[in-house]
Amino acid sequence: MNMNHIELDRDRCEGHGTCEQVAPAVYKLDDEGELEILADPLPEKLTKAAEAGARVCPVAALRVVGDA
Ligand code: SF4
Repeated sequence: MNMNHIELDRDRCEGHGTCEQVAPAVYKLDDEGELEILADPLPEKLTKAAEAGARVCPVAALRVVGDA
């Protein structure tokens, strides 16, 4: 089965949390403002949400990649 993954560029991420607002099942900011990826590898049913969250990141720090 093909699995998708989320790539996070921590150097870029500024902790805006926009991704978390759009896809709270996938992205979570911790108390220090570090982004946690809650679902990696990414189950099929969360892929759309993960992509939506990646799209709204203002600094383009997120990428959803497939291993197919
Ligand atoms: S939207 Fe982008 S900059 Fe903001 S927390 Fe998510 S990955 Fe980081």
